[in-house]
Amino acid sequence: MAQVKLTNVKKVYQGGTVAVQNFNLDIADKEFIVFVGPSGCGKSTTLRMVAGLEDISGGTIEIDGEVVNDLQPKDRHISMVFQNYALYPHLTVFENIAFPLRLQKNPKMSQDEIYERVTSAAQVLGITQYLTRKPKALSGGQRQRVAIGRAMVKDCKVFLMDEPLSNLDTKLRNQMRAEIILLRKRINTTFIYVTHDQTEAMTLGDRIVCMKEGGYVMQIGTPSELFDWPASKFVAEFVGAPMMNMVKCDLIKEGKKYFVNPFGYKLPVDGEKLALLNSRNVEAQPIYLGVRPEHVTLVREKKGASFPVTIEVNEMMGSEYHLHVVTEDGTKLIVRIPTINLSEEERTKMVSGEVINIAFEGKAMHFFSQATEYNLLIDNQYLADKEPLNNSPVKEEAEEEIHQEESSEEVKEE
Ligand code: ADP
Repeated sequence: MAQVKLTNVKKVYQGGTVAVQNFNLDIADKEFIVFVGPSGCGKSTTLRMVAGLEDISGGTIEIDGEVVNDLQPKDRHISMVFQNYALYPHLTVFENIAFPLRLQKNPKMSQDEIYERVTSAAQVLGITQYLTRKPKALSGGQRQRVAIGRAMVKDCKVFLMDEPLSNLDTKLRNQMRAEIILLRKRINTTFIYVTHDQTEAMTLGDRIVCMKEGGYVMQIGTPSELFDWPASKFVAEFVGAPMMNMVKCDLIKEGKKYFVNPFGYKLPVDGEKLALLNSRNVEAQPIYLGVRPEHVTLVREKKGASFPVTIEVNEMMGSEYHLHVVTEDGTKLIVRIPTINLSEEERTKMVSGEVINIAFEGKAMHFFSQATEYNLLIDNQYLADKEPLNNSPVKEEAEEEIHQEESSEEVKEE
């Protein structure tokens, strides 16, 4: 049990790769934190710095108020489970789990204590019946449980897990994910868990740290904060599956009313989103309009702000259809439609070539600046470094264009 605090933690590898930029995070005692992001964004490096397996190039890491920057891994009271759970092939499951306990000196652990710890960990993990087997006689999932058991038996303040499930097949991964949720309840310690899988992050984390290539922290928040209020286009697209639809269009302001104009339609913004646009007095501007596939509504009788789309592909997922559709102007979207409310007749019409009407409800819309890719409705402290989200020349050109437009507007007004 421990609090963990990372302050301005930075990692530059030899050769100059900046793996982690200023990383700031306060982890509460017994909190389950997940680092998520695409491969190479610095998740493992950050975890390994907490573990003491990597030197820190800048900043401080504290565990329970003590700066551990210069402490050896063994003195940090952490346990770690890796993706490649290296079990000793010549040792039984019991001895594999007991291994770290047998290494302990001053004081040496008694046989009774070792037996007690190994058997109770095995019980929690449901591997009691395999204690006398060797690893080669176990399935992948069982081996992973042994690796977790080995990390569990030590007295630790923080439990670190680096992609512990990525070597397992999908079914087993889902099962182990549920087991980790149970395990967490039973061992009740502080967890830091690294994954590239957004589903794992959403289901396991009390809070999620979403990272981007270059070692940037893009957002820290609860799963629902990241899902409902993504701070940037990057987070919006990373969290949620299928990915959020992004349509380039304009945010239009007419007095206190706001509209968006995807595919040549003029759709009103309403509800909470409208109130927020007004309270922040957001300027009219080019945006990415984001709408999650599950928030697109099927409109049965064409009316109001709906528009027709043609179905290209219908993926039947069981309880819902994932419709790949194309708008009149050729924009491709993904729409998730629960099948339960569809009549038989409607189901037969959900096929390639058919036209359906859909709508974007105001509350389901997200607005990201085309220039910065930030959410126009959120103040994001993690963006305080003002590192460009997208430092490609394309973005610079876009910004340049905006400046030029702004200056030509000013000239016109004069
Ligand atoms: P992730 O865990 O998100 O996949 P990593 O933390 O492993 O990312 O890597 C972050 C960046 O640091 C990557 O660009 C990777 O190539 C680089 N990197 C990782 N380990 C080393 C190393 N030992 N030496 C040099 N560069 C490294």
